[in-house]
Amino acid sequence: MNKPSIYMDNAATSQMLPEVTEAMQPYLGAIYGNPSSLHTAGKQAAKAMAQARAQIAQYLNVASSEEIIFTHGGTESNNMVFKGITEALINKGRHVITSVIEHPAVLEPCAWLEQKGWQVTYLPVNAEGFVSPNTLSEAIRPDTVLISVMHGNNEMGALQPIEALGALARERGILFHTDAVQTVGKLPLNLQNMPVDLLSCSAHKLHGPKGVGFLYASANAHEHLRPLLHGGGQEGGYRSGTENLAGIVGMAKALKLAIEGIPGHTQAIQAMQKRLIQGIMDIAPQARLNGPLDENLRVPGNLNFSFAPVEGEALVLRFDLEGICVSSGSACHSGQLNGSHVLNAMGCTDDEAKSTVRFSLSHTNTLAEVEAVLAALPRVLQRAGYFRSHPATATIQ
Ligand SMILES: *Cc1c(COP(=O)(O)O)cnc(C)c1O
Repeated sequence: MNKPSIYMDNAATSQMLPEVTEAMQPYLGAIYGNPSSLHTAGKQAAKAMAQARAQIAQYLNVASSEEIIFTHGGTESNNMVFKGITEALINKGRHVITSVIEHPAVLEPCAWLEQKGWQVTYLPVNAEGFVSPNTLSEAIRPDTVLISVMHGNNEMGALQPIEALGALARERGILFHTDAVQTVGKLPLNLQNMPVDLLSCSAHKLHGPKGVGFLYASANAHEHLRPLLHGGGQEGGYRSGTENLAGIVGMAKALKLAIEGIPGHTQAIQAMQKRLIQGIMDIAPQARLNGPLDENLRVPGNLNFSFAPVEGEALVLRFDLEGICVSSGSACHSGQLNGSHVLNAMGCTDDEAKSTVRFSLSHTNTLAEVEAVLAALPRVLQRAGYFRSHPATATIQ
């Protein structure tokens, strides 16, 4: 297969930056000790791991580096919250609250809890994809033990009001978790000043390696957390198994580059997304931009368009023939027959929900790439039969 020339699917995963690969190199070779070993090789590994943990804690302004628990990534961190916390709090209540637009790595653990007799309230969203603090307030019950609302949505980019939602949880003494896989490294986060007890992160969404992430758990949340994996007692007993040291070092490096780069990256991404939106609307005025209209309420670079009535997957394949990688909504959903659960929850018609293409830009993209995508778009739409349904616009092409 040829190397894709334009990659605009950064919400699915992102390329490792050369600096990250370079930082990992020693830990894929010369430095191979087990961080738990007492000898010199082990101590060397333990030192590198402690340093990575301290750096990550510092970048997110976490009170103590012990609050960072290394995991396999976003899916594991989310599972640890839902399974670990509920096991610990089962005698306090059996009700959790989340939202309808969560990633499957939250929705599936919730479905699992329901099978075990728990009750789950799924908060609705409005047409722009936002959960409202009022609906959360009304959903809280005396037996609610956990509230989990994602920070940035992976399919259409809506940034949830987690400060307000977390504050409501805190007022009632309920643990608050947020799946921040789409926002860590893209928005500044100061965890000591936020009403968040638990937060999930994954390195491969921020130009780090795959198969590594962390769960931030405040001292208060630690008390109520139980491990998914039992064994050698690594990660303070919360996550047994010899740590992925190279991955952890790579994640710390990727996070450093991402956080230090936020102002510049955001500016570049917003310029590109502005041009992309304008260009798409010129070519296909009936296309619809899903999610928040205000760019400050959207994960930088996450743009989801409906090109009804053409199926999103057909467009993704046509783009691929042009050497352009985009997604139809979420990679985790590809192959599913119904439209996306997220767009359905926002009140989109089935046609709109099935006809989505998500362009997710990163600072690694360029304006020239945006222009190339816009140059290919009329061909892609033409070949997918889009202009048969929108003949008036075809004549403009
Ligand atoms: C990608 C993603 C996950 C899953 O993370 P993995 O590290 O791939 O397991 C969870 N939540 C959101 C919002 C995501 O975008």
